[in-house]
Amino acid sequence: MRGRPLLGCIADDFTGATDLANNLVRSGMRTVQVIGVPDQAEAAVDADAIVVALKSRTIAPAEAIAQSLAALRWVQERGAEQIYFKYCSTFDSTPAGNIGPVTEALLDVLHGPGGGFTIACPAFPENLRTVYKGHLFAGDQLLSDSGMRQHPLTPMTDANLVRVMQAQTRRKVGLVAHEVVRQGAAAITERFEALQAAGIGVAIVDAIANEDLLSIGRAVSGMKLVTAGSGVAIALPPNWRVRGLLSEGRPADSLPAAKGLRAIVSGSCSQATNAQVLYFKQQGEPTFAVDPLAIAAGDDVVARALEWAIPLLQAGPVLVHATAEASTVKAVQAELGMARAGELVEQCLSHIATGLVQAGVRQLLVAGGETSGAVVQALDLRQMMIGPQIDPGVPWTCAHAVAAGGETLHLALKSGNFGSIDFFVKAFAKLEATA
Ligand code: ADP
Repeated sequence: MRGRPLLGCIADDFTGATDLANNLVRSGMRTVQVIGVPDQAEAAVDADAIVVALKSRTIAPAEAIAQSLAALRWVQERGAEQIYFKYCSTFDSTPAGNIGPVTEALLDVLHGPGGGFTIACPAFPENLRTVYKGHLFAGDQLLSDSGMRQHPLTPMTDANLVRVMQAQTRRKVGLVAHEVVRQGAAAITERFEALQAAGIGVAIVDAIANEDLLSIGRAVSGMKLVTAGSGVAIALPPNWRVRGLLSEGRPADSLPAAKGLRAIVSGSCSQATNAQVLYFKQQGEPTFAVDPLAIAAGDDVVARALEWAIPLLQAGPVLVHATAEASTVKAVQAELGMARAGELVEQCLSHIATGLVQAGVRQLLVAGGETSGAVVQALDLRQMMIGPQIDPGVPWTCAHAVAAGGETLHLALKSGNFGSIDFFVKAFAKLEATA
């Protein structure tokens, strides 16, 4: 088996990184996700693709560039021959960046200052993100008419991506329109060459269907840098497959067999998660509700939750949750403040998760984006091998956690609104079935 990744990805946020990794795995590349840029000393990566998850979407451009270049060096040192800069399929950015500045910095390193050529394509038709005549649509709406208009950090008020990208970069920005894309890879390549000859450094590329992505994927096969949402990723694995470079011996989503005890920790208060918690309860499964006011009052809620959970673990999965209905959350926030309530609950749940792993839990579900971040940090996880998808956007992963005493830990991180109502039940069944 080859011992180096072919594709090195730099993702500008954590759940976006998992989304990308999930798409690569579904298309046949074994993929490892690392959290932040690992220490130089960290071992070689045995996978077809590696995704470095940064948190660089809304930080200062200079810092985003520094982190992205550190990630670039790290994946290059591990042998990656193509680089993928992943951003959100709604092109989340401010006029200052960070999509433009990071793209420019990556091109400068890969091709020399001011040189090179790349695409920018956030399209993912399967998820209703399409680009036509350079304009990004979310479902039936122009991006600028969608909810993204009011995003608290990155309001998107212009759907014309040529204009949006041009505001963020000194390189000239062009367009490969759908009339060209629909003619296939050769026509797209020809257009790339013409644009480059005209001094264009970045081309927005139209895509309104999966087959467009597949054509674009073939056309970028020799490109050192691809910048895109997670959609274009489904079209890249075939480029290496035809060269016989993918490890085809076992399915790309295979993980080591899962063993050990099972638990769920939930800090998401989304409607979907509330319904999933209720469903789990209704199946007669054991649940423990964490009360944020008790944490604030100084109760040792971590110890109480663990005392409750540990004797039950042998019999099946337990669920510890702070998940509550909106009215309850509002009352808590009124008393503690929103930020303090969130922080107290995240700290508490991440300590409970660590305690559960120390007690023998080796299959852990976490619900909530911020909650997942806190748990990953508390467990000091550095690398996750991406496995089978439970529901769209949520794969099982496998990691080494010190708290697991050197054994493997199977982990699924579900952001708020994801997953069907029986998610907490079917996730474990899925892992068992794929073992
Ligand atoms: P989601 O993915 O659904 O947005 P997150 O984990 O990202 O979930 O965010 C939920 C936030 O709400 C976290 O900061 C969590 O600590 C906080 N939280 C969870 N339960 C409660 C509660 N009962 N009262 C107040 N805040 C809560």
